[in-house]
Amino acid sequence: MKIYNVIIIGGGQAGLSVGYFLRRSQLDYLILDNQRVAGGSWLHTWDSLKLFSPSDYSSLSGWAMPKSEEEYPTKMEFIDYLAAYEKRYAFPIQRDTEVFKVEQDNGLFNIITNKGVFYSKTLVSATGTARKPFIPKVPDPNEFSGVQMHSVNYKNATDLVHKKVLIIGGGNSGAQILAEVSKVAATKWVTISEPSFLPDAIDGRYLFNEATQKFLGKSNEENKGNFSVSLANIVMIETVKEARNRNVLNANRPFKEFYKDGVIWEDGTKEAFDAVIWCTGFRANLNHLESLNIMENDTIATINTRSIQEPNLWLVGYGNWTGFASATIYGVGKTARETVKEIVATLQVVNNSKQ
Ligand SMILES: Cc1cc2nc3c(=O)[nH]c(=O)nc-3n(C[C@H](O)[C@H](O)[C@H](O)COP(=O)(O)OP(=O)(O)OC[C@H]3O[C@@H](n4cnc5c(N)ncnc54)[C@H](O)[C@@H]3O)c2cc1C
Repeated sequence: MKIYNVIIIGGGQAGLSVGYFLRRSQLDYLILDNQRVAGGSWLHTWDSLKLFSPSDYSSLSGWAMPKSEEEYPTKMEFIDYLAAYEKRYAFPIQRDTEVFKVEQDNGLFNIITNKGVFYSKTLVSATGTARKPFIPKVPDPNEFSGVQMHSVNYKNATDLVHKKVLIIGGGNSGAQILAEVSKVAATKWVTISEPSFLPDAIDGRYLFNEATQKFLGKSNEENKGNFSVSLANIVMIETVKEARNRNVLNANRPFKEFYKDGVIWEDGTKEAFDAVIWCTGFRANLNHLESLNIMENDTIATINTRSIQEPNLWLVGYGNWTGFASATIYGVGKTARETVKEIVATLQVVNNSKQ
């Protein structure tokens, strides 16, 4: 029975980042990923998606992303980079391997997959959020007879031509999908509060500088100017600016409930729609860890990336609760590096105690 020092579940940017720092250690490790090819959840985003920061700010640790054709890389350019990154560092990745559940047995993790059971002393979960699309509770969603989809299932606007579409969600996905769909369909936008647009000159690189400063425990007054930057703000990429010029970035506050043909607004007026697109974000995909009985409110308590209740388990990526900006390309390297330092220190203690 082969026992790995470390198994990483998930071969997206977070899993690869941990792999990058692990390969410098003497530890043997394996990455298990359920996709057939490189790319993680980028493989499933919509066709026209572009990153919101230039290639220099869209690089993983160790090897800069090659310059993109235009200022902002397309998702395909980023997927190609991930594939080349994997190849360059020859990470041990076993693909097409779905982890169903993880059990603890005498200090070892038993990782139960469609390709058999794997064993490891420590475990990193880096399974992202794409499999857990979040849709807020709104009365009677099943009453609505039109099409409903989450942004994770949106690919392009081909099926929406000449339709009337309600787009819900005030983040970057909502703004970008609204920009695209409004070119071919009548649209209405719903957000909980007024959307927060970044100034035109501010793109992802400023957000990431802010992230770095926060990681170092410093404030970033220099970059901020007189506005507050957050990863939740809408970056004014070209398509969103173009939509602003067409005057479609007008948001309405949430409706009261659905009815058969559409929604009923707070003032009681009914409005018909053909389709609703929920751009309302994601939650951490941790189903495979439920068997460890350490989940609380769909999450796992951590100090930085390390589980408090299960100290040989680390969670990388997911969101700010596992390190500020750790769910971004630029931010994940820092948390991956710290995670690997902790794993190496832990395994030294474990291995020494057995000598
Ligand atoms: C629309 C959109 C646009 C974005 N734009 C940007 C941007 O411009 N810049 C930026 O920095 N960030 C951006 N992000 C955020 C972020 O970079 C991504 O969400 C990123 O893909 C997260 O990487 P990850 O490795 O944590 O997760 P993922 O990419 O989801 O990788 C996780 C991997 O684990 C696999 N997996 C899941 N469960 C299992 C299981 N049980 N067994 C085995 N394998 C499993 C998945 O299939 C996947 O391959 C964007 C996100 C979205 C949704």
